[in-house]
Amino acid sequence: AKQAGRNCWRFYKSSMLKAAYEKMMLTNRLRRGLERGEFYLYYQPQFAAADRRIVGFEALLRWNSSDYGFVSPARFIPLAEQSGLILPIGQWVLQEACRFARRLADSGQEHIQVAMNISPRQLMSEDFVACVRTSIEAAGIKPGQIEIEITESVFIESMEDSVHKLCQLRDIGVNLALDDFGIGYSSLTYLRSLPVGILKIDKSFIDKISSDEVQLQVVGSIIDLGHTLGMSVVAEGVETEEQLAILTKAGCDHIQGYVFSKPLAEEAAMSLLKQ
Ligand code: C2E
Ligand code: CA
Ligand code: CA
Ligand code: CA
Repeated sequence: AKQAGRNCWRFYKSSMLKAAYEKMMLTNRLRRGLERGEFYLYYQPQFAAADRRIVGFEALLRWNSSDYGFVSPARFIPLAEQSGLILPIGQWVLQEACRFARRLADSGQEHIQVAMNISPRQLMSEDFVACVRTSIEAAGIKPGQIEIEITESVFIESMEDSVHKLCQLRDIGVNLALDDFGIGYSSLTYLRSLPVGILKIDKSFIDKISSDEVQLQVVGSIIDLGHTLGMSVVAEGVETEEQLAILTKAGCDHIQGYVFSKPLAEEAAMSLLKQ
């Protein structure tokens, strides 16, 4: 029995080491990937529910690694956060998304907003507001052309500092969205005090609305709550016509999901606008 226990420990130890090693390797590749320009953005259109026109795009990070091929953001974003690499990567995303916004403006589409995801760690960095301001100026765009998506988790760590920075961004004219609403550390108590104009309902809520009457009621209540607080409401992960019809009827403002389009390469996003 003693022998078996020891083998077991050995196995445990070696698989732990292996996982730690793989993590370290991936983090190294991530750093090198940034230097080598292996990252790019995809853009998923958002549509007005009422008339099905494009109102914006969400920029989503993609990594085509020379060693691993395509790596999902669900896998590399957490590593980038742990290692701090999310700061330079996030900076690159900010500049790239602003460049795309400039391209939209140059083609007469200034009213179409470009949303990007910001990690808690980025928002917490001291010069974040200055970086946003600088990127906007460098790209020569209006602050209202961009939208910053944050998640509720930022408020666990540093409510006061986060709200302060978000207020500064709002005052510049940048649009702010609360992402993945409903799954985090919620919600109602502080929602009122946030300077956020857009509420994004998480996909997990949308998934069940056509089969589950209670879920439908919950989503309807979230939409009403958002409107009561003067926010516009986006549903994400909308995959079926049935979900789309239900959300439109419930008064949801904007729709994002496969029912309309998957995330697109920049050129495909531009040509979608011309249709
Ligand atoms: P998210 O911000 O919640 O983004 C929405 C995710 O849902 C995207 O996955 C998108 O491709 C996917 N999606 C959109 N519509 C549908 C649909 O109808 N059905 C299904 N099944 N999925 C849909 P993606 O691109 O893999 O991104 C995953 C997550 O990675 C994002 O979730 C976000 O949290 C993070 N992420 C992506 N880009 C960035 C970035 O530039 N910076 C940071 N910090 N995080 C990012
Ligand atoms: Ca998002
Ligand atoms: Ca989301
Ligand atoms: Ca999500």
